[in-house]
Amino acid sequence: MAGKSAGSTCCEAIASGRCKIASVSIAILRFKTMNNSYDVIIAGAGPAGIFAALELLSAKKNLKILLLEKGEDLPDRKSNDIFQGWGGAGTFSDGKLNLSTGVGGFLNEYIGEDELESLIDYVDRIFLKYGAPAELHGTDEEEVKRLEEISARNGLKLVPFKIRHLGTDRCFSLLKNLREEVNAKIDIQFNAEAVEICKQDHKAAGVKTSDGREFLGDFVILAPGRSGSHWLSEESKRLGLSTGNNPVDIGVRVEVAASIMRPITDVMHEAKLLFYSKRFDDLVRTFCMNPYGVVVKEKHKDFCTVNGHSFSTKKTNNTNFAILASTTFTEPFHEPIAYGQYIAKLVNLLGEGIIVQRLGDLLQGRRSTPDRIKKGSVKPTLADATPGDLSFAIPYRYIADILEMLEALDKVAPGVYSTSTLLYGAEVKFYSMRLKLTNNLETEIKNLFAAGDGAGITRGIIHAAVSGVVAAREILKRIGK
Ligand SMILES: Cc1cc2nc3c(=O)[nH]c(=O)nc-3n(C[C@H](O)[C@H](O)[C@H](O)COP(=O)(O)OP(=O)(O)OC[C@H]3O[C@@H](n4cnc5c(N)ncnc54)[C@H](O)[C@@H]3O)c2cc1C
Repeated sequence: MAGKSAGSTCCEAIASGRCKIASVSIAILRFKTMNNSYDVIIAGAGPAGIFAALELLSAKKNLKILLLEKGEDLPDRKSNDIFQGWGGAGTFSDGKLNLSTGVGGFLNEYIGEDELESLIDYVDRIFLKYGAPAELHGTDEEEVKRLEEISARNGLKLVPFKIRHLGTDRCFSLLKNLREEVNAKIDIQFNAEAVEICKQDHKAAGVKTSDGREFLGDFVILAPGRSGSHWLSEESKRLGLSTGNNPVDIGVRVEVAASIMRPITDVMHEAKLLFYSKRFDDLVRTFCMNPYGVVVKEKHKDFCTVNGHSFSTKKTNNTNFAILASTTFTEPFHEPIAYGQYIAKLVNLLGEGIIVQRLGDLLQGRRSTPDRIKKGSVKPTLADATPGDLSFAIPYRYIADILEMLEALDKVAPGVYSTSTLLYGAEVKFYSMRLKLTNNLETEIKNLFAAGDGAGITRGIIHAAVSGVVAAREILKRIGK
């Protein structure tokens, strides 16, 4: 490698070790026995990181594995920090295990449909082993077909797939079981944020954490999720890794009486419906449907967005789901994450947090007020959202896309397009940067892999878990040799 990389701090340690010891093999042995030296380092303990660790352990090769996690261990996790800690964003998620190659990411572009299908089945069996329920939704083929037909007649495309629903409460116990499984077999460091990826001779060499510690590793898997996607994007720039843009997904969370959505949720629990808006020809879709669930605030470092989940036992009277519009921008724009953040921050500026607005008020061009919300038939489950006017913060293009789709959806689930329907904003998905990866999910730096939502290749628990397995299997192959 010509010159030193900016991230060469751990590499310098390796290099200086090599200077003192004549034989390279002795040098390797020496560093392997050091406390901070590992076969594999994984950054991020979400589904991608955890399943990578499980897969590496399953080979029984006695590998020395380090899992670095920026957040807290499971018992110390607080529900107001939904992204960080053991289990990642999956811990306080609704735990809908979407068993579909077409929903949850772009892995089919890397490993092909058949391999993806077989790996989805593989990780699903692991989820079952650690506590996922046997019951599957979306299995009544006749009903699904009927729903598909009504949707098609109204310009909506239903993506049929099967779902295993954990619910937020069961997510926690399943993750506890997984935590116990790996506990004594790997090193896990909490409150340990990876800040610098180290390389030497264009190969991964280790990771440096925010408290100044350095860990050496032959292989590194980066699995920092959406909360770490900004960091990953900055590190990619520093290391000269190529990235591309995924579409920016911006929209609102819709909340209605659960009875209104029953024609859909009784059949599929969650339905993915796709729609192309007439005005802009944008792809608009439903996302993360939570029957009898609650709307929640998603806290980021200096702004908040909205999300939703549901419990397997506790039920509310409402169903919520997101409507997101995907837009791809033209050159020279290349900051989709920053764009999404600006919109979320603008909503926060106007509403001092999340804004909620009745559909009827939006259509009449007026803000919602506490009184107008009270008059409506849907009681908001996110109590501290501020009644306001989303049209001041969300660009016209997205509002127009969302309204068109709600109108079409009203034909499938009558009552959706009514005055009382609540819209919360903004819902923004930060998986917009996509790292350039090989089919085995290796970056342009040898032995440096990336998996999960942070790399922009997945958007859900199952696909994130599969991506961890893909990276781990490639590492096992190389170690095996
Ligand atoms: C409220 C909510 C509900 C959801 N519901 C569903 C659902 O029902 N079904 C579904 O399939 N998906 C759902 N999702 C999405 C799902 O949780 C994610 O797709 C999935 O968790 C992604 O897995 P991951 O491992 O890539 O990343 P994450 O789960 O985000 O995990 C990444 C981990 O890396 C850590 N980290 C970040 N940066 C660093 C760093 N620099 N160093 C060390 N550690 C770092 C983070 O703290 C985090 O713990 C939901 C998400 C939310 C927020």
